[in-house]
Amino acid sequence: MWNWSTLLPGTGSDKSNLKRETELLGKVWKHQMYKLDSEEWLLSRINPDCENCNNNDYYNFDMSFIKPYGLPLGKLHKIFRIVCPNCGETIELDVEEFIHIDPLIKVNNLFESGKIDESEYKYRLQKIERRYHKI
Ligand SMILES: [Zn+2]
Repeated sequence: MWNWSTLLPGTGSDKSNLKRETELLGKVWKHQMYKLDSEEWLLSRINPDCENCNNNDYYNFDMSFIKPYGLPLGKLHKIFRIVCPNCGETIELDVEEFIHIDPLIKVNNLFESGKIDESEYKYRLQKIERRYHKI
């Protein structure tokens, strides 16, 4: 069942002055989301190729949240979303789905920002893949 996001940043659906904001979390390459030695994709509900443009090598992931005034570090009503980098197609993820993807986002961010080198990157990816094998 598709779960389309209807909440866009800045278009608060309630009448209070709480604003919904969006934070880009990072990207995951499509090939990283296959379970080890299988054709099975981690996000069974979502197509590896974007259903809209069919033209994505990776997916972006972001988090939409409400930031209450007076709580500078607080983020409420978090919604995790998968976003096609090519056409912007956006689908909400369940928390359970996001939990599978989160380690990949983090290790990709570490590598892209130069905080880990390529051998450390590959080592960490292997560890993640082995964990997925058991799901
Ligand atoms: Zn697309």
